[in-house]
Amino acid sequence: TVVTRFAPSPTGFLHIGGARTALFNWLYARRYGGKMLLRIEDTDRERSTDAAIAAILDGLSWLGLDWDGDAIHQFARADRHREVAEDLLARGRAYYCYATPQELEAMREEARREGRPLRYDGRWRDRPAADAPAGVKPVIRLRAPTEGETVIDDQVQGRVTWQNKDLDDLVLLRSDGTPTYMLAVIVDDHDMGVTHIIRGDDHLTNAARQKQIYDALGWDVPVMAHIPLIHGPDGAKLSKRHGALGIDAYRSMGYLPAALRNYLVRLGWSHGDQEFFSTDEMIAAFDLGSIGRSPARFDFAKLENLNGHYMRNADDEALVRALEDILPELGPARGLGPTLPPHLREKLLAAMPGLKERAKTLVELLDSASFLYASRPLACDDKATALLNAEGRERLALVLPALEGINDWSNTATEAAVRATATEAGLKLGQLAQPLRAALTGRGTSPGLFDVMTVLGRDESLGRIRDQLP
Ligand code: GLU
Repeated sequence: TVVTRFAPSPTGFLHIGGARTALFNWLYARRYGGKMLLRIEDTDRERSTDAAIAAILDGLSWLGLDWDGDAIHQFARADRHREVAEDLLARGRAYYCYATPQELEAMREEARREGRPLRYDGRWRDRPAADAPAGVKPVIRLRAPTEGETVIDDQVQGRVTWQNKDLDDLVLLRSDGTPTYMLAVIVDDHDMGVTHIIRGDDHLTNAARQKQIYDALGWDVPVMAHIPLIHGPDGAKLSKRHGALGIDAYRSMGYLPAALRNYLVRLGWSHGDQEFFSTDEMIAAFDLGSIGRSPARFDFAKLENLNGHYMRNADDEALVRALEDILPELGPARGLGPTLPPHLREKLLAAMPGLKERAKTLVELLDSASFLYASRPLACDDKATALLNAEGRERLALVLPALEGINDWSNTATEAAVRATATEAGLKLGQLAQPLRAALTGRGTSPGLFDVMTVLGRDESLGRIRDQLP
């Protein structure tokens, strides 16, 4: 059976690239009825934080990506990592290296002069322990092959080959007895029964070194798929401005998890030219063979359009709930508390069919609904201010009595009253409707005028019109 894993380092938030990696692993596991495991790679003790772990778990949950079993914490497995290093040592596949920091610095200096990466020269590979200098605590290094090739048949990158003479004997266990990242990853993947490693192609070179450790241990190498990193719209490395943000930022910007999932799955993976995927469709269609080899470009405009599509098709009640979710963050700046008062919730729900047609994000939705929660007298945007000039305000005065005469306040009744006034005065409907919209919403655009009046109710509507009278 298929076992994938998502293995974030909790040194920061769950960023967009990590979220895509998690999604791909999740889809692959679900597609084949397997498992996706979660491993927190917290071996960097200085930079790993509990807050980052919480942010990663929250981000995954918000995106709707669940994992099987309990999360595994890498640091807690250090004894096991050490045991594997010592086993390699006992079998002659690894050795103690006593090179001093000064010797390593000299090697590094030489590499710099020759313009190549540091390559440990293997000076302790065959030296007897009796030569060990007093007082130097050794590291354990892998006795890597010096000839031939290391080959990875990657599901995305194809066959990738390294010359073993270019790969030095990497450190497995540091002199303080802590495992290196390279060792920890392969021991954990092996012990967790991981069959497929799907991760960013920034790990491709690591894959070669990890393959050498697998070989030394005689362990099976999982299937590997190294996916191209996400780039910015300009083709350069993704910057903050272009989307290199935590998943929580996307949530606060008002994207729906289903839309973000749909956007992410299409970043680097395709299925014909299909754009929209329900979760079930993604699971049914996902495969490693259709992941592209060139970096996907992150495009906010596309994400917004996709989100707009999901909002238009979302259930009204579900959208109100999605707004409530982010209200603690967005509410205060808009004069709203962290929760919706019941009367406002009711109005929002009633106005939702008109509101959701126009908004691309939940933030836009909340702002376009501001007429529902704004207090009198309304602040007006530029367009509304222009519509409420002297002429506009006279027209309000003209239509007000007809509206005041309505007892049974409804779309039909208000529409009939406004139309009758227009006809009598020889005006087009729009010449009355525009200043009315401005007076009622403080904006130049809004959902349908008569819907707005119905949602606001008789007293509030009439009050807002009176506020603008000359
Ligand atoms: N912890 C690594 C990272 O966050 C991933 C390691 C792996 O997938 O093998 O980049």
